[in-house]
Amino acid sequence: MSSTTHQHAIPEIAWPLRRGGWRSAVDAAIDALYPRRCLVCDGAGQPGLDLCPLCEAELPWLPPACPRCALPSMFGLPCERCSGRSSPIQRTRAAFVYNAPIDRLLPRLKFHDDLCAGRLASSLMLRVLQNADRPDAVIAIPLHRKRLRKRGYNQALELAKPIAQALDLPLRGDLLHRREYTEAQSSLDKEARALNMQDVFVGLHGKREVPRHVTLVDDVMTTGATLEAAAIALKAVGVQRVDAWVCARVP
Ligand SMILES: [Zn+2]
Ligand SMILES: [Zn+2]
Repeated sequence: MSSTTHQHAIPEIAWPLRRGGWRSAVDAAIDALYPRRCLVCDGAGQPGLDLCPLCEAELPWLPPACPRCALPSMFGLPCERCSGRSSPIQRTRAAFVYNAPIDRLLPRLKFHDDLCAGRLASSLMLRVLQNADRPDAVIAIPLHRKRLRKRGYNQALELAKPIAQALDLPLRGDLLHRREYTEAQSSLDKEARALNMQDVFVGLHGKREVPRHVTLVDDVMTTGATLEAAAIALKAVGVQRVDAWVCARVP
């Protein structure tokens, strides 16, 4: 395959080209040797993308949504809930509504060691982040140490790493700590869950200067309690603005 075709077919992954010719040359060589497979239907993928054109056309992109909580809203105006309350998160960007096939792809990343699913999800997220407000640093929502040891990787970090690299932003893992907690989160109702979350995160002063504006990265946003608790912890150590970038929003 010629490199021209490669670039025409996938303008959305133009970022490796920006980062230097060797990288795109390596990518092109890998694509030629190991043609991509579609992670959704197992058909033939596209250069630089583990997704076939048909499955790509069916992706559940987020419609116009509330700028604060990313719930679909009329004309992308703030939703009723956000108009009536303050939130530690200023802007939330989500790429998708948590529907098929994203609702199958993200659990594969989270529970089945499928890091290719993470690579695909982050490259799709980058398409909607090109015009997002640029933070001073990116932070992946941390896992508790015990869970990290069991799983071997943090799915949020698997999304945050390529995003930070593509947007040339520092990825800070030294500012937010997640404590262990004992009560099973899923057995709690929404309000109790939010209360329970408040003590889960601790902001740290970190090894370098605390950035003014950070963006949290996570795979799925359900109630927003996790992101808000993390934002509160970061603000306690001097971060002034916190945004969130998530792959999918549960409506
Ligand atoms: Zn497919
Ligand atoms: Zn809202």
